[in-house]
Amino acid sequence: MKLYNSLSKKIEDFIPHSDGEVKMYTCGPTVYHYAHIGNLRTYIFEDILEKSLEFVGYKVKRAMNITDVGHLQNDADTGEDKMLMGAKREGKTVYEIAEYYTDAFFKDTEKLNIRKPEIISKASDNIDEYIKVIQKLLDTKYAYTAGNNVYFDISKAKDYYKLSGKNEEELIIGAREDVTHDKMKKNPFDFALWFTKSKFDNQEMKWDSPFGVGYPGWHIECSCISMKYLGEYLDIHCGGVDNIFPHHTNEIAQSEAYLGHKWCNYWVHGEHLNDKSGKMSKSKGEFLTVSLLESKGYDPLSYRFMCLQSHYRKQLMFGFDSLDTAENAYKKLKSRIKALNSKDEVLSDKANEYMNNFKSALEDDLNTSNALTVLFDVLKDNVLNDTSKLYLIKEFDKVLSLDLLEDKKEIDVNFLNKINDLINKRNIAKSNKDYALADKIREELNSMNVIIKDTREGTTFEIK
Ligand code: AMP
Ligand code: ZN
Repeated sequence: MKLYNSLSKKIEDFIPHSDGEVKMYTCGPTVYHYAHIGNLRTYIFEDILEKSLEFVGYKVKRAMNITDVGHLQNDADTGEDKMLMGAKREGKTVYEIAEYYTDAFFKDTEKLNIRKPEIISKASDNIDEYIKVIQKLLDTKYAYTAGNNVYFDISKAKDYYKLSGKNEEELIIGAREDVTHDKMKKNPFDFALWFTKSKFDNQEMKWDSPFGVGYPGWHIECSCISMKYLGEYLDIHCGGVDNIFPHHTNEIAQSEAYLGHKWCNYWVHGEHLNDKSGKMSKSKGEFLTVSLLESKGYDPLSYRFMCLQSHYRKQLMFGFDSLDTAENAYKKLKSRIKALNSKDEVLSDKANEYMNNFKSALEDDLNTSNALTVLFDVLKDNVLNDTSKLYLIKEFDKVLSLDLLEDKKEIDVNFLNKINDLINKRNIAKSNKDYALADKIREELNSMNVIIKDTREGTTFEIK
């Protein structure tokens, strides 16, 4: 599997830290409002990444946080608290807001066939972890207290700007004038690990800590949740490109200061969904949600299909005309699949070729549009019979998750996999001139009521 690593700014071979399992962390939603379809583009890409890793043979352990505390409106740890904004807007408590929008988020992701990560953890459930890490950072002088808040001293971090490729001068020039930094900070870009002197007196979520009653900064939650559930070596960390600075930059600084070694090897970022005014966001333009698409009569999976047609590292412009085109193509695709008839013969060699092509597309930095092309090639193929096509579509849909076989009768994929596996083993035996083994495999297939035929195009089989 090749992936673009934002850290090296290169496409690299993916090599997990340990053979057993890929450890993957994805930044979760801030649950102060509905997710817009831009946010959901990022979760679709992460879902594809997880499923592609599984498709090529890895076991994946994935964790995601739910930000229900501490996400200030401005990334420089200033501005309004997003959760308080939500509570004020709806006249509810922060807890009510968090619960409602967490629920709404998972309803939306379900409609888009985005699988729930194995581990989901709320920011507010991990206060002890933050205290433990912050305390060590204070003890080792990576952090300091100023104006009753605890800050991370970025001058102590190794290669602080490596991930973002930014430099401090640029940032100072680019900083918004209305962003007021705490004057007590050593460096304007030092970031808060723990707030006790909050400008929000009405902050509902507060906890006792050795640093005073307060609440955590935004960045510390992802580092701590990841380290708690996935250990001290993370393979892949994902998010949208807007997370690169300062969020992921700060995560690296504090995690590596805490651990004393490199933390995460691959940083994989999804590009934005844009509207006419630029990056789609909750604060400007039309607020596009999955429910809004449904209310206009769209199938949410047409939006998933639209995302898969483009590469995750390319900006995607949203317009209803493009969604219409995607929906038409998606519907046509489904009706072509519906017309396929399952017979009892699979042309195994040819099917394997398509399987490999599909796999290669995913291994090529998640080239989903090429993966879709392989799917269309399968449908167009005159040699491949319908059963082979249905078998391949079912396999491909494990990653694409477009409900492609929703209307078809179940195919026993495990059984078909076993048959293909035995045929492959028999072919290897034959090429090694081990005819005794080849015959034994033929008999084994016979006993499963599978009759094989060697043809010029490859080995075919029939289920009696
Ligand atoms: P938030 O709920 O604001 O923390 O964002 C959740 C995820 O959506 C993060 O990974 C962001 O990087 C991502 N995101 C935000 N806006 C967009 C957008 N317009 N297109 C794609 N991803 C986005
Ligand atoms: Zn995060």
